[in-house]
Amino acid sequence: MRGVRKAYNLGTPIETEVLHGIDLTIRRGEFCAIVGPSGSGKSTLLNIVGLLDRPTAGTVRVCGEETTTLDDHALTRLRGHSIGFVFQYHHLITAFTALENVMMPMLGAAEFPNEAMRQRALALIANVGLTPWQDNLAGNLSGGQQQRVAVARALAMNPAVLLADEPTGNLDTQSADEVFALLRRFNTEQGTTVLFVTHNPALAARCDKTIEVVDGRLTG
Ligand code: ADP
Repeated sequence: MRGVRKAYNLGTPIETEVLHGIDLTIRRGEFCAIVGPSGSGKSTLLNIVGLLDRPTAGTVRVCGEETTTLDDHALTRLRGHSIGFVFQYHHLITAFTALENVMMPMLGAAEFPNEAMRQRALALIANVGLTPWQDNLAGNLSGGQQQRVAVARALAMNPAVLLADEPTGNLDTQSADEVFALLRRFNTEQGTTVLFVTHNPALAARCDKTIEVVDGRLTG
């Protein structure tokens, strides 16, 4: 990101700039914690890196591609193939099984005909340790299990970058540790770049580096 600014309610009397010129480079394969007080702009930053939102000014390059000039269709395509998301709330479809949730991002992707999609989802479910629960409805799983399904789903398209916005915020200590360990393992084994927003100093200390956002600026 170079000179990234973000204002909400642009052109209205309540226009507020919440990111004030962010310069940030995350290298491929890094596991990076993003910390800072509530309201400081961490989610806004993550949404811009994740191409869910556009900056008001500045440039964002993802996987070598300059994104600021891309149209919505191209952004959606790049996002779908390069970026996985895990949020504080799992956002699973609770009436679908764990396995079906993991298949969702692959539906309609040319490289995943039905059987390949199923095999990849089965492998991901196994990888997050949920094979015995693969056919359970997502709504019937524990919070920690649901978040592990969400991690498997985020990795379905084998993204280069995984963005995790307080994925352990709602979990007990042991489940939080398990989800963190999963992210770490995918980072080490697959080289997935991870940006991990957390309020947990112990988990932040286990990342490769920490970025602190305060009042819409990076400290340090
Ligand atoms: P954090 O993730 O660090 O808690 P956010 O990025 O969610 O911070 O929010 C930064 C600031 O931007 C806050 O003051 C918040 O109220 C404001 N904000 C976030 N999203 C919007 C929005 N869609 N419209 C207006 N203001 C917003």
